[in-house]
Amino acid sequence: MNNQNGNKKDNNNNNNFFNNNPIIVFALFSLVAIMAFKNLFPQDDMNANAGASTYGQEFKKVSYSDIKTLINGGTISYVGIGDTTLKATTNPKMGTKITYQARRVVPDSTLIPMLELKNIEYGGINEENPLGDMLFGWVLPLLIFFAIWSFLAKKMAKNMGGGMLGMGGSKKMINSEKPNVKFDDMAGNKEAKEEVSEIVDFLKSPDRYVNLGAQIPKGVLLVGPPGTGKTLLAKAVAGEADVEFLSVTGSSFIEMFVGVGASRVRDLFEQAKKNAPAIIFIDEIDAIGKSRASGGMGGNDEREQTLNQLLAEMDGFSIDGAPVIVLAATNRPEVLDPALLRPGRFDRQVLVDKPDLQGRIEILNVHIKGVKVSTDVDLREVAVMTAGLAGADLANVINEAALLAGRANKNEVDNSHFKESVERQIAGLEKKSRRISPKERKIVAYHESGHALMAEITKGAKKVSKVSIVPRGLAALGYTLNTPEENKYLMQKHELIAEVDVLLGGRAAEEVFIGEISTGAGNDLERATDIIKSMASIYGMSDVAGLMVLAKQSNQFLGGGQTTKDYSDKLASDLDEHIKSTLNDRYRHVLAAMNAHKESIENMTAELLEKEVISGKRVQEHIINSGKEIYTDGDLHQDEQSK
Ligand code: ADP
Ligand code: ZN
Repeated sequence: MNNQNGNKKDNNNNNNFFNNNPIIVFALFSLVAIMAFKNLFPQDDMNANAGASTYGQEFKKVSYSDIKTLINGGTISYVGIGDTTLKATTNPKMGTKITYQARRVVPDSTLIPMLELKNIEYGGINEENPLGDMLFGWVLPLLIFFAIWSFLAKKMAKNMGGGMLGMGGSKKMINSEKPNVKFDDMAGNKEAKEEVSEIVDFLKSPDRYVNLGAQIPKGVLLVGPPGTGKTLLAKAVAGEADVEFLSVTGSSFIEMFVGVGASRVRDLFEQAKKNAPAIIFIDEIDAIGKSRASGGMGGNDEREQTLNQLLAEMDGFSIDGAPVIVLAATNRPEVLDPALLRPGRFDRQVLVDKPDLQGRIEILNVHIKGVKVSTDVDLREVAVMTAGLAGADLANVINEAALLAGRANKNEVDNSHFKESVERQIAGLEKKSRRISPKERKIVAYHESGHALMAEITKGAKKVSKVSIVPRGLAALGYTLNTPEENKYLMQKHELIAEVDVLLGGRAAEEVFIGEISTGAGNDLERATDIIKSMASIYGMSDVAGLMVLAKQSNQFLGGGQTTKDYSDKLASDLDEHIKSTLNDRYRHVLAAMNAHKESIENMTAELLEKEVISGKRVQEHIINSGKEIYTDGDLHQDEQSK
C-alpha cells in the first residue's frame, strides 16, 4: 500500500512544479507585465522609431552630416549635444516640431562655431544612462508589481483560507474537527440516516467487517438540493462514530494554477490517513467531478488533474484497520464524471431530499429548542405554510422570527412573528423560484396522481413506490418513484406500451381534472415519443417498418450518438405518421382510464395536497376503495420470481 502511494507521488511531481516554485511563477508573470508596461509607455524618446510622432512632434533619425546640413539650412532653433548623440529641433513656429537625431561624430571642432555663427541656441543633454534606465525601466516596475502581487495574494489567501502560492496553504483550507453532532440533530430524512448508519458501524469496528472479508465502502455520494442537511448528515456520521471530520468544498480545489488542486487533494488524504479512522467530506463535488466530456472552457486542465488525483487517491488507499471514508455532496449528480461513480469510488448514493410535512414539523422542533415561544404558536401550521422549503430555510424561519420578536422588545416569539418570518423567507425564495404557488401545486398533484394511477392499473407497468409533490430543484416539481427492478434487462412489447401509458397519465389527468394542459408534461411526452419510435425503428415492433432496423446506434465511444438515416423518405413519413397515431391511440385509452377512475384520482390528489408524499400502498388503497382493480407485477417479472 505504501509503495503504491509512493508511486503516485512521483507521477505527480511535475504537476506540482508551479506550486512549489512560486518565485519562478512570479518572475514569469512580472516579465510579461513589464513587457506590457514598456510598450504602453515608451519612456525614452530616443528609442522611438524614426518617423513616429507624438503630440504634434516628430522624431527622425538622420545621419550626422544631414543634421549639419539642416543646421546650416536655418530651420533649426535648438540643438542638444550629448556625449554620443546630437539632437536638432526645428523652430516650432514653422509648423510641426521636428526633432532630428544623429549619432555624434567626435571630435568635431566645427560644430560649436557653426551654431554660434547661425545664432542657434544649444545645450548639453542627458544621455541614455544604462544604470538609470535599468532602475526606471525594470527595477521600479518590478517593485510595483511585487507590491500588487503580494497584496492580491494576501487578500485571496484570506478569502480562501489558504495561500495562493500553495505553500502549505491547503492545511488551512481543510477544516478538521471532531464534531459532536448526532443523528438526532438531523430531523426527517429517516431513509438517508438508515443508509449511512452502516458507515458509522464500519468506522467504529472495522475489524469485524474486515475479518469477514467484507468490502468497506470508500465513497458515498449525498445527493440533494441545497440546504437539505447533507453537510449535517456527514458531520453526524463522524459524530456518531466519534472520528475526525475533514471537510473541504470542491470549488476550493480549483485555483489559478494547474496542479494546485491535485496537491491539495493529496494533502487532504494524507491528513486523513494520519487521523484515521476519519471522514473526508467534499462539498459541491461537481466543481471538480464534472464530466470530462462535458467540456467547458478554461480551467479544464486543472479540474481534470484534480479529479484524476482524487480518483487515484480513492483507488490507492486501503482501509483495513483504520478506515477513511469519503462522503461527497452534490445537487447535480447527473453532471458527475462516470469514473467517479465506479465501484470502489462513490458507488453508493444517498438521497437527502427536501422534507415533507412531517419532516418539516420535526426540523422545526429541532431548531425551536432554546427559543422562547408563546403558547399560541403551532409549529404544524408553520410547517404547512412552508411547503417546498429545505431544512436550512426552516432554521432561518425560526431565527428570523426570534429576531423579529427581539426587535419588538417581546419576551416570547409569538404567532405573528412566525407568520411574518415565513412570508419574508418565502418572498426571498420565490425570487429564486424555489417555491411553487398553490395553483401550481394543485396542477402538480393531479399530474402525479395521473402517473400513479396508470402505473397501478396497467398490466406490465412498474409499480409505484412513492408519489411526491415536494419540489426538487427547478426541473421537477413533483415525481412518481417507481420501484426499481433488479436484474431486468428485457422489456416486452406490452411493458413498453405500459410505460407510455404511465407517461401520458400526467397530461391526461391535467386535461380531465384541471381542464387545461400545462407545460409540465413536456418531458413525459418526449420520453413517450422516444419509446414508440424505438419500438418501430430499433426493435421491429411495428407494421410500418416490420423487422427492418431504421436507426443504427453508432458507437458512443467514438463520439457518435447520432443515428444515420439510410431508408426512403416514404418510410420516414410513414414512421412519423405511425408514431403520431400510436401516441394518439394510447392517449385516448389513458383519457378513458382517467374518466373511469375519477374518484380514486380525486382522493389521491387530496391526500397528496395534504401530506405532499404518499406511498405506493396508499395509491393502491385509493383505487381498491373505489371498487376498481389494480394489477400486480408484469408477467416477465412473475416468471422470474417463480423460479
Ligand atoms: P447542505 O449541505 O445540504 O447544503 P447543510 O447541511 O449545510 O445543507 O444545512 C444547513 C443547515 O440547515 C444545517 O446546519 C441545519 O441547521 C439546517 N438543516 C438542514 N437540514 C436539516 C434537518 N434535516 N434537520 C435539522 N436541521 C437541518
Ligand atoms: Zn409527468
